Amino acid sequence: MNAHSQPPAAAAEPAPLIDPFGRAISYVRVSVTDRCDFRCVYCMSEHMTFLPRRDLLTLEELDRLCSAFIARGTKRLRITGGEPLVRHDVMTLFRALSRHLASGALEELTLTTNGSQLARFASELVDCGVKRVNVSLDTLDPGRFRALTRTGDHARVMAGVDAALAAGLRVKLNAVALKGVNEDEFVPLVRFANERGMDMTFIEVMPLGELEGPDRIDQYLPMREVRDRLAETFTLTETDYRTGGPARYMRVSETGGRVGFITPLTHNFCESCNRVRVTCTGTLYMCLGQEDAADLRAPLRESADDAPLVAAIEAAIARKPKGHDFVIDRATQGPAVSRHMSMTGG
Ligand code: SAM
Ligand code: SF4
Repeated sequence: MNAHSQPPAAAAEPAPLIDPFGRAISYVRVSVTDRCDFRCVYCMSEHMTFLPRRDLLTLEELDRLCSAFIARGTKRLRITGGEPLVRHDVMTLFRALSRHLASGALEELTLTTNGSQLARFASELVDCGVKRVNVSLDTLDPGRFRALTRTGDHARVMAGVDAALAAGLRVKLNAVALKGVNEDEFVPLVRFANERGMDMTFIEVMPLGELEGPDRIDQYLPMREVRDRLAETFTLTETDYRTGGPARYMRVSETGGRVGFITPLTHNFCESCNRVRVTCTGTLYMCLGQEDAADLRAPLRESADDAPLVAAIEAAIARKPKGHDFVIDRATQGPAVSRHMSMTGG
């Protein structure tokens, strides 16, 4: 066979990163800032000390880091924080990353946001190839919203959600289920979301980060109770719908929509974990609930060549733990993991 008769060489699919338990790691969440315009009571203390800006990866470094993961088989990338949309010039990063969507190397680029800046950025996100966003919304009541977020403006978030929908983004709402705080709103939240074509997902409060204020044991509500509460009003049926994350979804007959449940505490979702997380300083956490981490900033800064960075990623995945062991009970004092959710991102 001469050279001309050979088919063109197909671009080699990168070998996926496989952890010691045979799980392919194809989903990376990257926190682009630890800062936020809100101070949600379960996430941050009122007077947070944020990282010095020099410790943060630059947008170019974040692009290199994400691109290295994509070169090693990452298919889904979620940008988070802190509040990702308060990072100065963050659209430069989205625009840069969109090249991997265009090439087909990346299947999905998404973000988790508190919605405060969405009205401003929704259509630009669509231009960058973002199709789906998660917006955190724990309550429909403006006064309660202010108390929960300490600084948040409910109307502004609502305008953000409307703008996202108008721009054609698929929106999922996430609420942390908090005993004695928003438990009377589970049904209204599902109605609100489903009527607008959005999925509604509830999350158990996780013991991350030292907080002043209410004890999480007092706020903790197992998902089973959330589901039982919803089942008093709605007919819920199991679905096998998945979005690549840890949520399990049920169909709500009355609304025609879906409700999701994320149960880090009561249901161990570790067996099927395909995710890792990177902080805004370039620390890679192989598990949200474990302390072991790998520094990716040093190899990033050590060389303009990505080889040391890729080697550090591979070495870290080779020690991804089997799972986490979150416990919320009265015998366990303090958080299971001392870092805040705003550091590792949601
Ligand atoms: N600022 C963005 C937002 O609020 O959507 C993105 C980052 S935030 C840390 C991501 C998600 O983590 C949010 O849905 C938030 O409700 C959730 N979260 C924060 N602290 C939590 C905790 N202790 N337990 C469970 N979820 C938490
Ligand atoms: Fe900010 Fe999101 Fe944490 Fe609330 S949950 S304080 S919006 S990072």
